[in-house]
Amino acid sequence: MIAGCSFIGTPESATAPVQTAEYLPSSVSPRYCEYTVKLDIQPSERIVTGVERIKIINTTNQLLDKIYINAPLNAFSEDAEAQPVFNEFMEKVYPEGVNYGYIKFSNVSVDGDKADFNLEDTVLIVDLADAVPPNEWTELKMELEAKIPIMNHRTGSDEDSMWFGNFLPALAVYDDDGWHTDSYYPVGDPFFREAANFSVSITAPQEYTVAGPGIPATYEKDGKKTTEFTAKLARGFAFTLSRRYTSESLISPSNIEINLYTFSNTARKAELLDLASRSLEYFSDRIGSYPYSQLTIAETRLFNKGGMEYPGVIFIDSNFLAESDNLESVTHEIGHQWFYNIIGNNQIDDAWMDEGLDSFVQEGFLLNDAELDEKMQMEYADLKAVISQIKPNTLDSGLGEFKNWLDYYNIHYLRGKLMFYSLYKKIGKTDFDSFLVEYNRRFTFRMAYPNDLIQTAEDVSGSDLSAFFNDWINNPELPPLI
Ligand SMILES: [Zn+2]
Repeated sequence: MIAGCSFIGTPESATAPVQTAEYLPSSVSPRYCEYTVKLDIQPSERIVTGVERIKIINTTNQLLDKIYINAPLNAFSEDAEAQPVFNEFMEKVYPEGVNYGYIKFSNVSVDGDKADFNLEDTVLIVDLADAVPPNEWTELKMELEAKIPIMNHRTGSDEDSMWFGNFLPALAVYDDDGWHTDSYYPVGDPFFREAANFSVSITAPQEYTVAGPGIPATYEKDGKKTTEFTAKLARGFAFTLSRRYTSESLISPSNIEINLYTFSNTARKAELLDLASRSLEYFSDRIGSYPYSQLTIAETRLFNKGGMEYPGVIFIDSNFLAESDNLESVTHEIGHQWFYNIIGNNQIDDAWMDEGLDSFVQEGFLLNDAELDEKMQMEYADLKAVISQIKPNTLDSGLGEFKNWLDYYNIHYLRGKLMFYSLYKKIGKTDFDSFLVEYNRRFTFRMAYPNDLIQTAEDVSGSDLSAFFNDWINNPELPPLI
């Protein structure tokens, strides 16, 4: 996209002195959507009830008569249209057997008036009785009820803990291609969101600790504890809760408070905090400042022995903490604070823009130039040997085209990473690092599309890179590495 970096926002948020404001390019005055959410969680039933309000501005140039909301949890309901998990991962996602959840909506209103709505699998479509003209605001309010499956995934639960990644129903992106109401896919990160501002209040039994972005305010009443978060400029809101959490903190050299919440008895807390601190410093130095004053790392149960990135929050899988020899994926997830959260992209159509670029920049955290050359040449040889057997095998392949996770990994992480290494060798380290800084400056809390990334690289290097990128993105053959 994107014509308008932001389809959404409130007048207040455009001028409010939020903690990220100094990083926004001065030429940009995006208007961000405002989410105000109150949730009540009953962990024993795994039920969530609540009210969600979204203030939306029509930045299209036409009358708006419908609003589309993505509700990914319904991909995990019993009557979902497609299986949300590849067969190869079913036992890891559902170790106790398949189990379903849902999210449903009621009392939907627009600007105080009852509105007609229709929930179609993972998409809620709300009719606007009075069409909203361009540049006008409207407020959507809906009551919701959700059941969280017992599963090891981005959203899930066990007997002591619940975690909510990509849970909160979110406004779909509207761009030059119209509304993006993609369904859920079992591969990749099937999410595409604008940056927004969030005020989220979570009430749960008082023995539960709730972790989310930043430092919340809490108060207790009648055996329940309410935890209130404010997250400004974030491409989503994720949180966790557990009655077994303990927490430890570390202040990074740049004064970022890193808070680690764990429920298992891991001996690696100091190692993890130190790695997170050094990773934050590395990406900040190379791309641009980390925009928040805190980073939360929360132990959950994922199926992939790794992590999952959210704005200001990282989920780390419990088995990964217990068994992994190295914690490298923590560095990778921290890199996603820039590649996807700060600099947005369509993770469904163009996953290489965040996975490929993050994977390449991540290599510089551990490797010197000679080690980088050696590793990239080995990985290139390995990929070249199998590329003709991978389908699809070009970077312009969307998530819906992949039939297994390894093919997706080989293309969007590996082919993408090798393309950025090839670019690095082609334009040189100085121009490549200028490209990272400029790309971040142009698209901070906006949305970048492939042509935006290519244009930025061309502007910084002063060279025509269209044939280079076309070959790497669209040619089934793997182009030369150097
Ligand atoms: Zn990643």
